[in-house]
Amino acid sequence: MPVDGLGCHSGSELKKAAELSGNSELLAQFAKDYPQGPHDKPQSMCPAFGSLRVGLRMRRVATVLSGSACCVYGLTFVSHFYGARRSVGYVPFNSETLVTGKLFEDIRDSVHELADPDLYDAIVVTNLCVPTASGVPLRLLPDEINGVRIVGIDVPGFGIPTHAEAKDVLAGAMLNYARKEIEAGPVAAPQGGKSDRPTVSLLGEMFPADPVMIGAMLAPMGLAAGPVVPTREWRELYSALDCGAVAAIHPFYTAAIR
Ligand code: SF4
Repeated sequence: MPVDGLGCHSGSELKKAAELSGNSELLAQFAKDYPQGPHDKPQSMCPAFGSLRVGLRMRRVATVLSGSACCVYGLTFVSHFYGARRSVGYVPFNSETLVTGKLFEDIRDSVHELADPDLYDAIVVTNLCVPTASGVPLRLLPDEINGVRIVGIDVPGFGIPTHAEAKDVLAGAMLNYARKEIEAGPVAAPQGGKSDRPTVSLLGEMFPADPVMIGAMLAPMGLAAGPVVPTREWRELYSALDCGAVAAIHPFYTAAIR
């Protein structure tokens, strides 16, 4: 494959390719949202692990990666090391399927095959470095198939510095999708019912006991702790949007706030 030799270390080359393949607007937004560190390469192990982990932790959400086999091997290895209890979907490619557009068709076929509403609320498809550099247009995937939402994101190591920003990319894409659903009509109510007090959505992952402590601090102010974003299931996104205020616990969340 001519894509061999392109990896985390070739950030600027891949970036140039992405700009030429129609992704310059996306990269400009990343540059605005996520300041680079001391160099234009990933500042951590593959940043896409952040968004992959968010998807893997959500109930009834399937994840599909599109990228070089070595990247996908590393990502799936680490996700299982950290206790992911489900498979990670992978759509492989070669130089021919990448340049002819067949890779996009293969991704589309895979989401159609996977979209079983009995099993999933959503499928997250992630373009890693090489498909992003080649401009594989995930935005052209259907928004939903058989009632299963399809969320396509680009999470390249050139543009997304660490796991934290990658989590923001996916949380932001999901919130954006959920907001459109709310605007279009009634959506599922929160599992435990709606709080009788205004809620504060908590932006950024935290330890399970933290929301309880934060809730105790908010109670005297007549407020309640809302969902933690990234959420653990799709319907929590609606509650997160239906909040009185947002507390950004981590500083990396920009797309989610938008
Ligand atoms: S997808 Fe991740 S592992 Fe692969 S080249 Fe990009 S940053 Fe590196």
